[in-house]
Amino acid sequence: MSMVEFTSEQQMLRDMVRRFVDKEMPRSLAKAWDREDHFPREVHDQLAALGLTGLTVPEAFGGAGREVVSTIIVIEELCARSMAVGCAYIQSACYAGLNLTEVGSPEQKADILPKVASEGLMFAYGFSEPDVGADIASVRTTARREGDEVVISGAKRFCSGARIADYIYAIVRSGEPEARHKNLSLVLIPTDAPGLTFTAQETLGLKGGGAFDVAIDAVRVPAANIVGGEAGWNQGWSMLAGPGLDIEKIEVAAMALGIARAAVDDAWAYAQERVQFGKPICTIQSIRHMLADARTKLEACRLMTYGAARMVEAHKPAGAETSMAKLFVCDTARDIVLACQQIMGAYGYVGDFDMERYVRDILVMPILGGSSAIQRNNIANRLGLPRQPPPARPMRVA
Ligand SMILES: Cc1cc2nc3c(=O)[nH]c(=O)nc-3n(C[C@H](O)[C@H](O)[C@H](O)COP(=O)(O)OP(=O)(O)OC[C@H]3O[C@@H](n4cnc5c(N)ncnc54)[C@H](O)[C@@H]3O)c2cc1C
Repeated sequence: MSMVEFTSEQQMLRDMVRRFVDKEMPRSLAKAWDREDHFPREVHDQLAALGLTGLTVPEAFGGAGREVVSTIIVIEELCARSMAVGCAYIQSACYAGLNLTEVGSPEQKADILPKVASEGLMFAYGFSEPDVGADIASVRTTARREGDEVVISGAKRFCSGARIADYIYAIVRSGEPEARHKNLSLVLIPTDAPGLTFTAQETLGLKGGGAFDVAIDAVRVPAANIVGGEAGWNQGWSMLAGPGLDIEKIEVAAMALGIARAAVDDAWAYAQERVQFGKPICTIQSIRHMLADARTKLEACRLMTYGAARMVEAHKPAGAETSMAKLFVCDTARDIVLACQQIMGAYGYVGDFDMERYVRDILVMPILGGSSAIQRNNIANRLGLPRQPPPARPMRVA
């Protein structure tokens, strides 16, 4: 039981994805994909064939509409088993499907969205750079116009899933750096474009699609690849900071929720099987309390994630609420997973059990997609907390 209620269609979808995960993504395979840093494309293809990558694509382009809550359900279910599959799903349904639906040009929608829905076409995010983390508006990768082409030079870092994606959805400096937010554009760089060099980065978790340093050496793309078309030139910041960013925050919350749920389920079962001092450890009060706390916090995470998803689905302004969900769920999910690891003792630390993978995967959630500190800044700013003391009032003379 959960305090989060789904419609009957959403429940059917969740049950269908759970059956799919049990059948096509057994634990043994999920473990192997993680160990071998392998992306199982055949599983991704099946998700597309089931229509799941099209949950974010308007019906006119072969999808199911803009089903944000359903998309979040799929992310939670996939990430509860395998980040190799879950991250790739996000690259397709969210990075490609939702973004282009919101800000793509008519031509980009007609060309790419049907491929998202039917083939699971993927984008990789190219925002971070060697010297650019939270301060995305300071990107140094440049783009200049040359006839009908855009020439891009620079470097992207932590470009997750770049080698399995079809395009890098890259933010670039398209004018003078002094203008900051006003001179940024989003461009679609095909991942097979001449001039791109990929170098794998070693990460603790999120195995499968990998993370890459991408060197971009005078790469030429048609001007038609400017996201939003000609009108999108120098408008990248408003496209990035709009609804796409709100959805990105709940995507990450849903990933964390899925991992934490898997950890709680495993620790709950383990505590009933593991016998010490002649009785299962689930009879020890401190273990019972840890598990009760974990279930309670998990339910709070679920309420925050789906509450924020409903707001975004209803097109309500949700900048503060999505930041609250990202902050609370990612920090709390990390605490839940670490508590579950403690419950499993030494067996939470070894490769025989999935717990050590949950720990590796959860640690990055408060960092990705805007760190917890950045979400706190957003919340305070969006709720109008003054940054400066009010000007001093002139003193009254009696
Ligand atoms: C596994 C993995 C996958 C990733 N995938 C992608 C991807 O696909 N595409 C992509 O573009 N990026 C990706 N990233 C990068 C990720 O989004 C960045 O790590 C994140 O934006 C933060 O940047 P940074 O780590 O460089 O931290 P920095 O921005 O250097 O910040 C360092 C510390 O300072 C704090 N800080 C910074 N500014 C402020 C501020 N104004 N107020 C308060 N605190 C502040 C931060 O919270 C952090 O604790 C990935 C990272 C990892 C580890």
